[in-house]
Amino acid sequence: NTFAEIDLGEALNLNIRRCKYVKPTPVQRHAIPISLGGRDLMACAQTGSGKTAAFCFPIISGILNGKYAQKPRDMRTAYPLALILSPTRELSCQIHEEAKKFSYQTGIRVVVAYGGTPVREQLAELQRGVDILVATPGRLNDLLERARVSLQMIRYLALDEADRMLDMGFEPQIRKIVEQMDMPPRGVRQTLLFSATFPKRDTVQRLASDFLANYIFLAV
Ligand code: AMP
Repeated sequence: NTFAEIDLGEALNLNIRRCKYVKPTPVQRHAIPISLGGRDLMACAQTGSGKTAAFCFPIISGILNGKYAQKPRDMRTAYPLALILSPTRELSCQIHEEAKKFSYQTGIRVVVAYGGTPVREQLAELQRGVDILVATPGRLNDLLERARVSLQMIRYLALDEADRMLDMGFEPQIRKIVEQMDMPPRGVRQTLLFSATFPKRDTVQRLASDFLANYIFLAV
């Protein structure tokens, strides 16, 4: 019933203690073991439930334990291993801040990209290297069109507040992004989809059945 009992690895456990997290929240208690086991997941979780850590911990742990092909040496294009899509600049920045704390001194680089601001600084950050990219769908498509980001190496995809992204009309943008991930050479991708509302609306459900494989549905 503590984080120490979940096999997240020493480096991540140290950062969890630094954040003063002791006990997993309900969504964390269920989502983290499922994700560590490699299964796709669709979870209903409200803001404040601890969902950010619920998808960040398995991603960070997976990157730290994983063996990945050498990234292509390309000065112009960034090759993240994990992508976290979120609906707004505010939420993306929050996730970025948390993910940086969880990745502290692990060598994992977390970069954020959102629209409504000049792209220059984000490009500079991407060029310094990126393992986890937190992005809004519009800005990410812009970066993909400019070939400044490639999704060829993506092993983890998290969709946060998927219901809100659909409400905001991001479905075509999200589909375009996931299509790029499905292009060969396509590796094994694990997908974690979080929604604040119970998916009675079939759009969230349809997204889940299109993007997730043999997934576990979690409602807490
Ligand atoms: P979230 O739902 O991800 O926006 O998280 C809500 C707040 O709870 C954030 O400020 C987190 O830092 C905090 N939090 C998340 N998980 C835990 C935990 N297991 N113990 C204590 N605080 C947590």
